[in-house]
Amino acid sequence: MPIEPNPLAPNPHYPVGILRQHGRFHVLAGAPIPKGGHIMDLGGKLSSRPSRYSVQVDVDLHVETWVPVQGDTSLDSCQVRYMNHSCKPNTRIWNRQVIALRDIEEREELTFDYNATEWEMAETFICTCGHCDGRRISGFKHLNPLEQEERRDLLPPHLQTKLASPG
Ligand SMILES: [Zn+2]
Repeated sequence: MPIEPNPLAPNPHYPVGILRQHGRFHVLAGAPIPKGGHIMDLGGKLSSRPSRYSVQVDVDLHVETWVPVQGDTSLDSCQVRYMNHSCKPNTRIWNRQVIALRDIEEREELTFDYNATEWEMAETFICTCGHCDGRRISGFKHLNPLEQEERRDLLPPHLQTKLASPG
């Protein structure tokens, strides 16, 4: 899949930090990030099958975010692995980049909607994002048509094509 230039990402890469709290990891903004900011890249090994830490980027194509990209010794490419799901996210994944959906404050947790990248989750879980009623996160496939439509603007091409009607 060719990686196309991203018109939403004029400012590549902002500092992020990993926070471990009560046994859970969180990715925090290390500086204010403006809406549309290209925060980091989705690095890792490509796989045809999903796993617990993979992010789907195309039909039958998943980035294993826990496997460093060859030659990248900074492990920066693995930070996406620690990003938690939110039903009201402040980033989205686009062209294998993490993009700010709105202005983000320093030390704010970075989240994305797993239901807007994954067709079907390798491992489902009960959401603790605080914006929903503790729903089970299973992937785009398991959302009802209204919930799928609500995510239209977040969706990468491999999920856009699954919408009931074209935009
Ligand atoms: Zn939620």
